[in-house]
Amino acid sequence: MNPLERAGFLFSGVPTPWQNAAIFFREFNFYTDMIAILSKSAEALYSPCKLCHRLCAVNRAGGESGYCGESAELRIACAGLHRGEEPLLIGGHAGTGGSGAIFVSGCNLGCVFCQNRQITGHGGGRALGRAAATDEFVRICAALKERGAANINIVTGSHAIPALAAGIRAVRAAGIDLPVLWNSSAYEDPCALEMLRGLVDIFLPDLKTLDRSLSARLFNAPDYPEAAAAAITKMLGMVNDAAGVPPEAGRVMVRHLVLPGELESTRTVLRWFAGNCAGALLSLMFQYTPLPRGKAAYTRAGEASPPARFISEAEYHTVIGWLGELGIEEGFAQELTAPDNEWLPDFSCPNPFPRGIYTPVWSWLNYTP
Ligand code: SF4
Repeated sequence: MNPLERAGFLFSGVPTPWQNAAIFFREFNFYTDMIAILSKSAEALYSPCKLCHRLCAVNRAGGESGYCGESAELRIACAGLHRGEEPLLIGGHAGTGGSGAIFVSGCNLGCVFCQNRQITGHGGGRALGRAAATDEFVRICAALKERGAANINIVTGSHAIPALAAGIRAVRAAGIDLPVLWNSSAYEDPCALEMLRGLVDIFLPDLKTLDRSLSARLFNAPDYPEAAAAAITKMLGMVNDAAGVPPEAGRVMVRHLVLPGELESTRTVLRWFAGNCAGALLSLMFQYTPLPRGKAAYTRAGEASPPARFISEAEYHTVIGWLGELGIEEGFAQELTAPDNEWLPDFSCPNPFPRGIYTPVWSWLNYTP
């Protein structure tokens, strides 16, 4: 595979010479950066922090925080059995089932339509959460296993990879043998992802858009398309076997949330997925829920308006029709249900989600079930 394919650029046609040059330097930096990252301690990686594409260069070990809003201390908002994930992920262990979701506080992306804005820190004020050192992280995973979790599902941990890599190693050393899921926005630097090699069983990256103007407007990241394509390509490479064959189906599941009125963005994402993600599953989500007035998260770029309505039935059928057209045969698609606010969690409560889809096991509120 040539570097352009690896960086995920070929979907958009023939790159200009400038794009080629930029990609060459990125490839060169990738290896030197990776050696530098893998030889550093976790503390050193946070200071100056260049773990993700925001490149804030702040001293997180010294208590500073960058765009993600978090210092070097790992903070967690809540953990519990989540039955709202794809069927493949929720299992049925111990008669309850559910993915063992651990919601990490903070976020390096900050979408204006984020439903988890209370715990990302992009809704105003500090993200809800409580510090969880490695031994506490192990206790949380043990409690999830005891309650019947099918896996450990780490949600939005891209800005805390060093702490979480240490946590996963400790979990394995403690004999907790559940599969580990990495559930992220795909805005990680590939060098940082390398720290997770051998520690993650299933990657669940979002591919939000490949439209630069949309990613700039909705989450202040014009470089998101290239970054996400490179991160997903890296994840696919990390789960390939030694012979370089496509990964076992389901070890990478690319999620895409369809945005009302932005179907061209979805079509581009689907086309790229069909051409670049052999062996991965697609999960199409139609749960977009407009936030109540005054509740929109913000981006550091300033005001931006998220779509103010639900997905229409016509949009739903249009997108489903594209799957056959593009030859995408394996994956999941949410059913279109009547518009309501069921998908809006409230993390100020011990159980942020409707009782049917989530059983709390640990919370920043010191909740003990
Ligand atoms: S992880 Fe956080 S502090 Fe570090 S570069 Fe990314 S947003 Fe900035």
